[in-house]
Amino acid sequence: MTIEQRIKALIRDVKDFPKPGIVFKDITPVLKDPVLCNAIVDEYVKLLNGIKIDEVVAIESRGFLFGMMIAHKLHVPFVPIRKKGKLPYNTIEQSYNLEYGEAVLEVHADAIDAGKTVLIHDDLLATGGTIDAAAKLVEKLGAKVGAISFLVELDFLKGRERLVPHSSKIISLVNYQ
Ligand code: AMP
Repeated sequence: MTIEQRIKALIRDVKDFPKPGIVFKDITPVLKDPVLCNAIVDEYVKLLNGIKIDEVVAIESRGFLFGMMIAHKLHVPFVPIRKKGKLPYNTIEQSYNLEYGEAVLEVHADAIDAGKTVLIHDDLLATGGTIDAAAKLVEKLGAKVGAISFLVELDFLKGRERLVPHSSKIISLVNYQ
């Protein structure tokens, strides 16, 4: 089995969560397979193909899971991006549109040094709004988005198109057409 087949076999579709019409891709069964989790991290490192990453930046909260593992594997710092109001120190913020209304992401103002190249990681790419906002935070701090990685990409929502201006290296291990 390919790594995509192994991950897909474990991802659980939960219909109408968190609201009617959404099919939620539940990755928690993947987390219960430590051999596969290790293989996933190795696969990200392989697909980065030598791109020099200075720091891994990941989005609350499911992005933290593999984000921290990738940072650990690469021996680089990990930086959390969180929803507004969660980070305790001085922050900068970026708002983005949700289906209904607006949300705000924050990062500590001193978390990423200007000139660094970062990997941004999240569990899933849907419309791309979340990562577009995260990339803007990284760029506001003067850093560069060297690559963006996901476990899952929902191709039919075309989120990738919104991310291309930030980085040409977009990695997804599992795609749904
Ligand atoms: P978007 O900004 O539209 O790309 O949405 C991505 C964010 O929403 C990620 O942090 C995902 O965890 C979450 N998300 C969106 N759609 C789903 C879905 N169908 N299943 C699981 N998570 C989702």
